[in-house]
Formats: sequence, structure tokens, C-alpha cells
Amino acid sequence: MKIIIIGGVAGGATAAARIRRNDETAEIVLIERGKYISFANCGLPYHISGTITDREQLLVTSESTFTDRYRVVVRSHTEAIAIDRKSKVVRLRDLSSGDEFDESYDKLLLSPGAEPLRPKLPGIDSPRVFGLRNIPDLDRIMSHLQQNRARRAVVIGGGFIGIEVAENLNDKGISTTLVEGTDQILAPLDYEMAAIVHSHMRDKNVELYLEDRVDRFEDKDDHTVVYLSSGRRLQADIIVLAIGVRPETTLARGAALEIGTTGGIRVNEHLQSSDPDIYAVGDAIEVTQTICGKPALIPLAGPANRQGRMAADNIVFGNTRQYKGTLGTAILKAFDLAAGSTGLNEKQLRAADIPFLSCITHSGSHASYYPGAKQVSIKLLFSPDGRILGAQAVGADGVDKRVDVIATAIYGGLNVEDLSDLELAYAPPYGSAKDPVNMAGYVASNILNDSHELIDWRQLRDALELKDGKLQLIDVRTAEEFEFGSIPTARNIDLNQLREHLDELDPKQPLVLFCQVGIRGYIAYRILKQHGFTQIRNLSGGYKTYSWAVDKQSNPDIFDYEDLKRRDPAEIEADLSGSCPVSAAMLDPDTSGELHTLDAIGLQCPGPIMKTYKAMNALDAGELLEVTASDPAFGRDIRAWAKKTGNDLLSVKAEKGVVIVLLRKVAAAPISAAATPAAVKDRLTLVVFSDDLDKVMASMIIANGALAMGKPVSLFFTFWGLDVIRREDAPHLNKPMMDRMFSTMLPSDADHLNSISKMDMHGMGAKMIRKVMHDKGVETPGKLLHSLVEGGAQLIACQMSMDVMGIQEAELIDGVEIGGVAAFLGEAGESGTTLFI
Ligand code: FAD
Repeated sequence: MKIIIIGGVAGGATAAARIRRNDETAEIVLIERGKYISFANCGLPYHISGTITDREQLLVTSESTFTDRYRVVVRSHTEAIAIDRKSKVVRLRDLSSGDEFDESYDKLLLSPGAEPLRPKLPGIDSPRVFGLRNIPDLDRIMSHLQQNRARRAVVIGGGFIGIEVAENLNDKGISTTLVEGTDQILAPLDYEMAAIVHSHMRDKNVELYLEDRVDRFEDKDDHTVVYLSSGRRLQADIIVLAIGVRPETTLARGAALEIGTTGGIRVNEHLQSSDPDIYAVGDAIEVTQTICGKPALIPLAGPANRQGRMAADNIVFGNTRQYKGTLGTAILKAFDLAAGSTGLNEKQLRAADIPFLSCITHSGSHASYYPGAKQVSIKLLFSPDGRILGAQAVGADGVDKRVDVIATAIYGGLNVEDLSDLELAYAPPYGSAKDPVNMAGYVASNILNDSHELIDWRQLRDALELKDGKLQLIDVRTAEEFEFGSIPTARNIDLNQLREHLDELDPKQPLVLFCQVGIRGYIAYRILKQHGFTQIRNLSGGYKTYSWAVDKQSNPDIFDYEDLKRRDPAEIEADLSGSCPVSAAMLDPDTSGELHTLDAIGLQCPGPIMKTYKAMNALDAGELLEVTASDPAFGRDIRAWAKKTGNDLLSVKAEKGVVIVLLRKVAAAPISAAATPAAVKDRLTLVVFSDDLDKVMASMIIANGALAMGKPVSLFFTFWGLDVIRREDAPHLNKPMMDRMFSTMLPSDADHLNSISKMDMHGMGAKMIRKVMHDKGVETPGKLLHSLVEGGAQLIACQMSMDVMGIQEAELIDGVEIGGVAAFLGEAGESGTTLFI
């Protein structure tokens, strides 16, 4: 039997080797358009950064090995240009000589793969625009990078290849921008799971544009301008297009083989095309998606290889094997995270009209008490009868094994309750006695047996936007966790005290519970359920999932091309991650001394600096403080702080989304607000005239920052600024009518300021800013004011303005002095800086 295989990489090369193993007598001819057969297309992006150092490693099997071992006639650099099905002949063109000739076959196998999408945009033929599908593409990219000093790369497309290319360009030290047309990268994941990866990419200083598309490219002398539909222009030294692929069906269409509704070659369960002598596999075919039973295009290497092997068996032994469909199990490395999925996601289930339930769990990759455990976030989707429909997992460790276990469970027809019962390998360094897969099974089973009802982040966000006042939102984390940030309008009742507060909750009104990841919310749910509450739901994935999902997802405008061209890349990188050495202490750090730690994760500026200041005050000279913060600006702020206060900054590292800083307290570090004569000169005086929320926030942040730097601070509140220092629980005072009118019209306290200086939109702007601040864990003006009082700042209320506005001393918060202009001038005279806000 003579078999011709078209396409010599994943599906084709696998099939050729398998046919030979099955049949020593077969005549096998492998046709490949490119110069290389059986190369590792999945490894291509990793050579860009040098992670795969040697290009030759990508050439998995050489042509000669293939010929010698399998006795296959390999015709590389040869294109199949037509199939004559009647006479069973393929027309071939030798791409080196241009010669054309025919090759006859008994059976034909098509594995021509997919072709990258390349829309006809103006300027797309620029020599700086590349694709990545094969070794010559990679060679072109590598030679461009060697010959040009690439500072900024723009990758278009947030799919698997786009993200891998972006990571590797970034690893190579090139400032990298990723542009994606939809509102999320990684289409196989649902939005809130992709949000974890967005957040990680922001931490890695990848400039991320979402919901933005490329309109055109324009070449300049030494760079190309990428025009986006938003109106932005990105200057780039290299552009990589990775916006997806379409099945390569030119030959199949030319031979009038049936094409499916999705555009792939239609095959039956034996992988036979509409012509029984022509089989087809890989990216070029339409498969049946296992969960929904619908036709789909799933261009992945695993299915292509399995199909190649199966088609080979069917060609040799006569349709003995059936392809059961493709689940779509996939995984990707995105910097320090892995993101994997199997089956269908929420969007696909909706499109297929399949009813589903879901749960999100965040578990440790292994026992938490064994060092190095990382979070694995799993979203499980299942039908109301318990069938597993899909799963997504994101985390820095152990994602692959969880996705694979669930994919195997789906293949084996297990349901979510079986996931709870799976007996999985466990020892502390590798897993937990309750593996994350078991945990996902427990949560799903509890939902199915009605002992737990969930609300997802989107439903909660929508319910909160209704503002009907009926929803009771209870944060059952500790008061400290609540302080670090919570969901707007949430009330904090620590789970451990919930039973004592039951009478404060209305059992007849809807109630949503949440904690950090969902476990304490579930316990609270069970408590309330057994006390007669009926309308309770627990937030799926807890505050963690909610805050990721409602966060700003893109990361625009972090690069300035001119700056990138001018400055040293290492300097820019260090600047963005806040990790360049700034002091002799950092270059030669002495890390002896008692070590204290401070967790400032979740706090936004100036929270981490304020906490650091307080913690350093409590230390003795020579002691060390390690601060871990998630605020990306902390790396930069702490350098200025250390310089100012004279403390030693020993190291600043940006690692896995957090900034870790090591400080040593220096004996006479002037960090106390009790001023030395020199520090007195350094006083900051702020005149707070306005009660616009944005202006007040700016003044509070500057004042707190100055205080944390050891500067004495005075704030002089005058006219509308007096609203900031009003107390919400002011006593009822007998006032003249005019004064009463003022009192009722003005905001009651710092936390109820209701205007902003721009885009006020009748108070909407202030509400929006307040929500964003809350979501991002930015302290409220009230809390910042409290910190100022605690930190020893001097607050002076202007007597004259109080008289004019009819505000009395009893209406002001504690710790405010009443003063006149002389008090202000006194302070201002001793100040290095005076600001009027
Ligand atoms: P291919 O492996 O693409 O082979 C098709 C071959 O056919 C091509 O070499 C082409 O030149 C040749 N051909 C086409 N038409 C003709 C013709 N008329 N005559 C002669 N020859 C022809 N998948 C994963 O599962 N995981 C990954 O991590 C992953 N990473 C990837 C990274 C990159 C950069 C790329 C490009 C792909 C990646 N993939 C990954 C996808 C995976 O490589 C494909 O799904 C798989 O290779 C498909 O196999 P195939 O045999 O259908 O096509």
C-alpha cells in the first residue's frame, strides 16, 4: 500500500512513524512545504528569550533520522498543490527548483495544520511585523532582534501564542505591550480567572491594552507606529501578530472534500474525510467538542498527535479505531503563573445552551505548613445533575496536575461527587490530604445537595449597583482584614462573633456573605441557615475573586518610547519594578540583626509607607524589618522614605506580584514627628480650602506621606475645607436658621464628601471615585485623617471661616485646634513647603 502524508510536523510525522511501526511493507511518502519536518512548534517562543538556548533543540527529528529509522521518503520544501481524487494522484511542486510532478497514492492523509490570520490592514507588510508559526518565522524574528536594538515590542493577540511571545520578549529585556481586542486575554478562561493573569502581567510590567484593536501600521525611519482603534499610537521596534489561526483547507477545498460549518475539513469518527481514501487530522479538521457534541475547531498539539496515530491505525488496519471528540484541555505558562483549562467555560456553555452551575476555590498547591505552597485557583463548571462540564485553574504551582485530573475525570465519566472521593497522591511537599481537586468536589457537591448556595462576583456587583438597600452584605473576615479593604457597603462581622450578632440581621431580607476565599463564608452560611435565615448566599471565590474581577484590567501608558530609546533597559526595568540599588547598604547589605516582618499586602499607597513608619518606630536600632506589599509603587516610595529618614534600605525585590523590602533601623534615624531644629525647617503646611473629594484625598495622602517621612505636618482647614474635619456624630446644636441651613447642605464628615473638582456629574463622580477607592483598598479620607491625628499632625480649624459657615467647635473631630491666620502664618513661616489645596 502506498500512503502519502501531507504535512510533516505534529499530526503528519506522528502518523508516518506509526504507519511504519504497523506495517513494514507500506510505501510512505511524507510531503512538507517547509524546510523542516517534525519541529517543535510549541517550543518556538522560548528560543526568543534564550530559555531554549539552542535552535537545533527545536528540530525534534531530522529528515535523515526519519528516513533511516522509518524508511519514509521525505520530500521537504515540496508543496502539494492539487489532489486528483479520481486518479488518486497528488500534484507536487519542488519549491527549490519550481519543478512539478505527480505522486500516486492508495491512501492519503492530510495534516496541513492551520494558517495564521493576517488581516489586510494598511502597513501590515512592514518588515517589522512578524508572525510565529514555524522555524523560518522564528529565524526572521531572531535575526531582526540581532540586527536592531529593539526596545519596545508590540504583540497583537492575547491568546496562548501571543502571551508566550510577550513573556519571552519581556524576558529578553524588551519593554513589551500586548494588545487584545476583547475585554480579556486567554479566551478558554472565564473573565474572573483571566483577571488573575491580567493582574500578574501588570505586575510584570507588561503594558496591557484590552478591548482595543489595531487599525494600521506606519513605518518610520527606525520604528513602526501601531495605530489602535482607541486612537492610541504605539511606537515599536518589533511587532508580532498572534491573532489566531484558521484551518489550512486550500488543498481539501480544491479537491472538493466536504468542509464543516466551522471551516475545518469534515471527518467521520474514523478521521476519514468525505472521500474514504483520504484521512485528515490536526488543526485542519473540524472535531466534535466532547461536552456539547457540537462541531468545533480546537487547534492543539495533543489532539493532532493522537489523531495522527489513530488515523495511521485506521489506514493500516481498516477503521478499527474511533475518535471520541476533543475536550480542549490546554495549559499555558504566563510568567510565574500557569493557566490551564479543560472542557467548556461559562461563555461556551451559554452559547451551547447547556445549564450549568459553578464554584471557585482557592487552595494551596501543597500543605500550607510545608514551605513554598502557592495558591491554586480552580473554577469548576458542572450540570445540575453533577456532570463535570469544564474546569479552569490558575496558579504558580500544581495547576497542570489539577487540570489533568479533572480532564481524566471527565473522560472517565466521573461526576463532581466523585471528585470529592478521588484518592490522590499526598505528602506535604506535593499536595494536601484534601487536594484542591477534592475541595472543588466538596464545594460542588454541597451546592448540589442544597447545603450551600453561591453568588458569583458579577451577580453581586450587579445587585450592589441596584442600590435598593435590601441586600445585607456581610464580610465575615477579621476586623484587620476588613481594614485592608472590603466590598463597598459591606458590614464586618467576624465569623467567630457571628452568633452574637444574629439579632442585628434581618432573616427575611437577602443576605450575601463573604470572606477571603469562601471557606469562612460557607461556615457562616451554615450557621445562618440553621438559625432560620433563608435568603443567604456565599460569594464564590470570596473577596479574592471579587477584587481581582472588579479591578482595572488593563495596564496602559506605562512606556514612553523616547524614554525607552534614551535610557538603559536595565535602568528602566529597575525603575518599573522598583528594584534598583539606591544605597551603599543595598550594594553590600549587612543582614545581621533581629528580623521583624510586616505584611502590607492589599494596602494601597500610602498605606504600606504608613505601616512601615509605625513598625520602624517600634524597633530598636539595628533591628531589621521585612515588608511585603502588593502596591507596585511601594518599591519606589520606600527608597525615598529610607533616604529621607536615614534608615538603611538593604534590598528591594519584585517577586511574583509582591514587593519585598528589607530595612534596618539606624540609631538616630529622624523618623519621629518630634522635630529636631533641622526637621522644623522641614515642616509641611497645607491649607485645605476645598472639600472636593479628590483635592482632599490629595492633601491627606501628601500629609500622611510627609508624616511618614518624619516631617512635622500642619493642616489649616478653612472655608469648605472645614467639612473635612466635621464629625459625623456631631451633637444637635441650637443654631440660627442660616447656620442650620449650611449645616444640612454640607457633607457631614470626611467620608461623606460629595463633590469632585472635575467630571462631578451632579455628585456621581464622587460616588464613582469612592467606589474605585474602596475596591482598590485605598483608605477613605476619614481613615487618612485619623492617621494624621494619630501620627501627631497639627490640625488647625480657621476661626474666621467657622464663624462665617456657622460651624461650632463641638462639631469638629477630636484633636483639632482652633486658630486664626496668625496660627497659620506661624506654621507657614517655619515650613519648608506650604501648599494651598
Ligand atoms: P502542523 O504541526 O502545523 O503541521 C502542518 C504542516 O503542514 C506545516 O509544517 C505546513 O508547512 C505543512 N503544509 C501545509 N500545507 C501543505 C501543503 N499543501 N503541502 C505540503 N505541506 C503543507 N499546541 C499545544 O497543544 N500546546 C502548546 O503549547 C502549543 N504551542 C504552540 C506554539 C506555537 C508558536 C505554535 C505555532 C503552535 C502551538 N501549538 C500548541 C499548536 C500546535 O503546534 C498545533 O496544534 C499542532 O502543531 C497541529 O498539528 P498539525 O499536524 O495539524 O499541523
